[in-house]
Amino acid sequence: MSYDDSNIFARILRGEIPAKKVYEDDHVLAFEDISPKAPVHTLVIPKGPYKDLAALAAQGTDAELAALVRALAKVAEEKQTADSGYRVICNTGEDGGQEVDHVHFHVLGGKPVGRMIS
Ligand code: 5GP
Repeated sequence: MSYDDSNIFARILRGEIPAKKVYEDDHVLAFEDISPKAPVHTLVIPKGPYKDLAALAAQGTDAELAALVRALAKVAEEKQTADSGYRVICNTGEDGGQEVDHVHFHVLGGKPVGRMIS
């Protein structure tokens, strides 16, 4: 499936719907999740048109990939959850629970978020 730019995050990137922005640079936008599952719940997305992690890995530039990883750590730092710990999640595809078809990373913290894998 190719990228469909009618998804909600593409609309946020175009400024068509509002979002509470946390961080932005040339390649990345971070904003608060509309339905937070933890005291810190920020979404970090590349600005490029990538549906999922595989598309980002295949088509993203090295600059985009580097900016994304740095933004994830920066968001955790700025939300003051970096010291106590946090989780980054990238739900992918139907079985992975991905609802929005623009690749995104959840940064969750501000409380113990437990372990899903042990
Ligand atoms: P997924 O299940 O695709 O990994 O996560 C999508 C996330 O996007 C969910 O946590 C959901 O709350 C969030 N979300 C859905 N619509 C909006 C919106 O319009 N604005 C914001 N800020 N977050 C949204």
